[in-house]
Amino acid sequence: RGDSADFDREVQSVCPFCGVGCQISLKVKDGRVKFVEGAPGPANENRLCVKGRFGFDYIHHPHRLMRPLIRREDAPAKGLNVDPGNWQEVFREAGWDEALDAAAAGLKGRGREVAGFGSAKCTNEEAYLFQKFIRQGFGHNNVDHCTRLCHASSVAALLENVGSGAVTATFNEIENADVAIVIGANPVENHPVAATYFKQFAKRGGKLIVMDPRGVGLRRFASHMLQFRPGADVSMLNAIMNVIVEEGLYDRQYIEAFTENWEAEKAHLARFSPEDMAPVCGIDAAVLRDVARTFAGAKSAMIFWGMGVSQHVHGTDNSRCLISLALMCGQVGRPGTGLHPLRGQNNVQGASDAGLIPMFLPDYQSVTDDGVRSAFTEVWQSDDFSAEAGLTVTEIMDDVHAGNIRAMYVLGENPAMSDPDVDHARAALARLDHLVVQDIFLTETANYADVILPASAFAEKSGTVTNTNRQVQMGRPAVAPPGEAREDWRIVVDLARRCGLSWSYDSPADVFAEMKLNMPSLDNISWDRLERENVVTYPSLSPEDPGQAIVFADGFPRDGGRARFTPASIVPPDEAPDADYPMILTTGRQLEHWHTGSMTRRSAVLDAVEPEANCSLHPSTLRKLGVEPGGMLRLTTRRGSVEVMARADRAVAPDMVFLPFAYVEAAANILTNPALDPYGKIPEFKFSAVRVEDARRP
Ligand code: SF4
Repeated sequence: RGDSADFDREVQSVCPFCGVGCQISLKVKDGRVKFVEGAPGPANENRLCVKGRFGFDYIHHPHRLMRPLIRREDAPAKGLNVDPGNWQEVFREAGWDEALDAAAAGLKGRGREVAGFGSAKCTNEEAYLFQKFIRQGFGHNNVDHCTRLCHASSVAALLENVGSGAVTATFNEIENADVAIVIGANPVENHPVAATYFKQFAKRGGKLIVMDPRGVGLRRFASHMLQFRPGADVSMLNAIMNVIVEEGLYDRQYIEAFTENWEAEKAHLARFSPEDMAPVCGIDAAVLRDVARTFAGAKSAMIFWGMGVSQHVHGTDNSRCLISLALMCGQVGRPGTGLHPLRGQNNVQGASDAGLIPMFLPDYQSVTDDGVRSAFTEVWQSDDFSAEAGLTVTEIMDDVHAGNIRAMYVLGENPAMSDPDVDHARAALARLDHLVVQDIFLTETANYADVILPASAFAEKSGTVTNTNRQVQMGRPAVAPPGEAREDWRIVVDLARRCGLSWSYDSPADVFAEMKLNMPSLDNISWDRLERENVVTYPSLSPEDPGQAIVFADGFPRDGGRARFTPASIVPPDEAPDADYPMILTTGRQLEHWHTGSMTRRSAVLDAVEPEANCSLHPSTLRKLGVEPGGMLRLTTRRGSVEVMARADRAVAPDMVFLPFAYVEAAANILTNPALDPYGKIPEFKFSAVRVEDARRP
């Protein structure tokens, strides 16, 4: 922190980390960001967490890619074997023309053999261009991004039952609520500024019901803490809804006016009495009844959820239960009510909205709809492309192993760290005969690249991003990209041209203008307006309307205008603990580190606070293992094994171990189970059977 003498100018932009979307003021001197302060955005009102305030210096890290790189002909076999500080044995520097020509040569004309991964770190304009490139350039829909790994199941359930994949109310609406449920989320670490609003809500007397197999940080503010058995969400939520039905606590008028399939839901729930479900979910029947009465008795209530809900083989069923709970109590569409999946990355909402998913074009318009495709091909002035939904992130890797996909373009994503059963993904990357990676660092995925295109960090480019609240915000450049690195939108356009597409854009504003032609969600939101106002929430009803914080007051965007109850039955986790793998592994994030760590582990303050791979277990479990906190453990699943430093944490249940996934030296995803939820195609990151041993023992 400094005073105005410490910087030449300040630039307002958006934090690049989590989906809260805090606005920041970047203080710049001599072409470098010197420090960051909170700015008055609607989501953060000047607040920042440790990542937003101190996690910016990775943009000036010496590992930044500054020139395009091409794999040397005499490079060793592809593998995770490149030192980011000493890459010359594997790659050689190249000029942009040579690198783009080489990148295009391995992609052009290969149709179905090509797939693309974009990223939620992209701006909306970059995400839009990337999905257009794959669809228009290669004629199919094999394009996806990390939403598949975080909230794909939540979006599947919301689209199915509410008709829209986005939140129905901003998280800030909690200030108008009486009761809030936070389930399968740890906002104190993962959405820290949102957590400050949740804490304020509890401090002013709001009832905060926290449900999670781990005793997450919000428990200190909770009126009810339900530390349920991992994977038992549906049994617990159905039992709560059973009480609401049996005691007649539901909102008859709302159900009649705004919903369908209620009778089927009601009949289904009769099978889930709290007494029967208590042993399944590990929560006393009396507590389940109290929670049901508290939620149903609220004047206004909200439900927030995170990846503890979504990253299961029953992730879509979990979200269906939460949607049903809100609907039966009429808790949607009014101040202080709503459904809010807390989105993970800073632009995962926007990248999904922009069509970076294999089954939908921008604004969740189905690729199978002939009219939709024809509207897009008209704007794109292109031939039609496949009407078949494309493959998802993990399916693409399977298809590489099957020999069908042979070339990939990866922009900002790091599947060599983020995919489940990551050795399977790494082997797929090694098998490709052409891999183009566009990034700011030589990531684990870039280790496998044939061509690496040096890209720009958030503070080096213009572009809009959309946070968890549906707030479209303007990101602005504060400094120039280092060396010869370029803005990402320019790189995608240059590559598309070399692959035969006659694209012509002069700026991200041009791209945004094109997006508006087929994205009704952007009605009344223009680039100029965002430049002026910094943020507009969608939907915005007029050029003066700042946007609707709460939606669906008068019905839902489904045929007939009604939301739907979809009953959910108990589906157990894919992999039950047994004699060989007796404990439960769950994975997640830490306050100081962001996703696969490529940015935060290169941020001096954040890395100093959390420099080492670690896992957390209950102290009694550590005692049984004979390992002191700070000692090394070996974690083994059916996929592989890692060694990692142990921490004692009473919040972790005695039969669980929590492992963050930011550390390459103990990569959590070596261990995770790739089993998928059948609807959202999201892997079960939150539950794997694991054996935990003292690493000193052979
Ligand atoms: Fe950035 Fe999220 Fe922290 Fe806000 S809460 S400063 S968006 S990481």
